[in-house]
Amino acid sequence: MASSRVLNFGAGPSALPASVLEKAAEGLLNFNGTGIGIAEISHRSKEFTAFVANLEFLIRTQLDVPPTHAILFTQGGGSAQFSATVLNLLARHRLLHPHLSDDERVMDYVVTGSWSEKAAEEAKRMGGSRVNVAVDSRKYSKDGKSFDNIPPHTEYAFSPDPALIYYCENETVDGVEFSHKDADATSFPYHLLDKGALLPLVADYSSSFMCRPIPHLSDHAVIFAGAQKNIGPAGLTILIVRQDCIVDVDAAAQLGATPIPLTMSYKTLFDSKSLYNTPSVLPIYIAGLVLEHLAELGGLKYYEQTNRKKAEKVYEAVRKGEEKAVLQRKVQDGAGSWMNVVFSVLGDGAEQRFIEGAEKEDMKGLKGHRSVGGIRVSLYNAITEADTDKLIGYIEKFVLAESN
Ligand code: PLP
Repeated sequence: MASSRVLNFGAGPSALPASVLEKAAEGLLNFNGTGIGIAEISHRSKEFTAFVANLEFLIRTQLDVPPTHAILFTQGGGSAQFSATVLNLLARHRLLHPHLSDDERVMDYVVTGSWSEKAAEEAKRMGGSRVNVAVDSRKYSKDGKSFDNIPPHTEYAFSPDPALIYYCENETVDGVEFSHKDADATSFPYHLLDKGALLPLVADYSSSFMCRPIPHLSDHAVIFAGAQKNIGPAGLTILIVRQDCIVDVDAAAQLGATPIPLTMSYKTLFDSKSLYNTPSVLPIYIAGLVLEHLAELGGLKYYEQTNRKKAEKVYEAVRKGEEKAVLQRKVQDGAGSWMNVVFSVLGDGAEQRFIEGAEKEDMKGLKGHRSVGGIRVSLYNAITEADTDKLIGYIEKFVLAESN
C-alpha cells in the first residue's frame, strides 16, 4: 500500500507516516483489541480515555511541559483559537484588573505574516479592547509590502501590562519563522518582556508543533496548534495553557467581560479533561499513533536534527538556483522557515514547468499559497531526509535544464 504513495509536500493537511496510517487502518476496524473501530467507540470508554491520557503524556514528556501548564484538546483549529485566546485572556485580565475600562485592556500583536495578521484582525473584530500592533514586519521587507522577514529586536513596541501578547512562531503561508536561538537577531525578543510577571504570552505553533523543542515554553500563557501539519489529521487542536489562564469566565462576565461560549472556555476543557463534548476521536487516535512513532524514532531531538538538515539542504539547493538566476528566495536571511520553504521560479512559465515536472516524478503539493505565489516546499515531520533528497535531485536537474 505504502509504495504507491506520492511524496506530498503540501502545507496542510499534509503527509503522515505511511506505517502510522496502516496501523490506523487496523484501528478503524478494531481499536486496541476492543473489537470496536476507533470511529465507533464511545469517547467515555475506558480504552479511549486511557488513549487520551497517553496522548497527553507523550506531548508532556516530548516537549517537557511543566506541571504549571495543562495540555488540553479541542476542535475548531487555529482559527477558533484566534478568538478563544482573546476571550479567555481578556476574562483573565478583567479578573486581575476589574476597574480598568475596555479601552485600557490592550492586546499586543506581533505581525510577521498572514496568520498573525488574521489573528490580529480577529482580535479587533471581537471589539471592546485596543489592539496594539507591537510590530509589523512588512515595514522591514524588501518591497515594503511582503512578509519576508523577522523585524529587528529594537523595533518591537510592547505595552505595559497587556491582556495578551501574541505571535505566530511559523508563518505557514509566507515561510517566515523565528529562530530558536536567543542570540540570533531573528529570535523572538523574550528579553524585552517583563520577566517579573506571569506573561500573557500566546503563541500559534500550528505549523511547527512537534518539529523541535519549544524555547521558553514555561514563559507562555497559551500555546496552540492544529494537528494537521505535523501530528495528525485536521479536526484536533492542541492547547498548552498555564494554570493562571484557566479562569472562571462566568465570574469575569459578571464583572463586564464578554460571555464566552462554554466550548471555548479553557476552564470547561480543563474541568472536563477535554471531554466536555464529543471530541474528534479519530484525529486524536491518529495523533497518538504519530506521537508514539515520533518517540520510537528518538523523539524531538531526532526530529530537530533531521528537520534542520532537511531545511538546510533545500535552502542550499535554492541558493544554487539563485546563482544560476533560475530560483529566488522570497524570505530574507535568518527568517526562513524550517517547515515551509518559499521561493520563486524565474522566467516565463517556469513555475508551471517546475510543478508539472515534479508531479511527473510523483512529488505534489509544491504550489505556493495563492496570496504569495511561487513554490512552497513543506517539510513536515513525515517528510524524511530521503524524500527531501529526491526533491533536491529534482531541483538541481530543473535548475540545470533552465540555465542551459
Ligand atoms: N495558524 C497557522 C500558522 C496556520 O498555518 C493555520 C492553517 O494553516 C492556521 C493558524 C489556521 O488553522 P485552521 O485552518 O486549523 O483553523
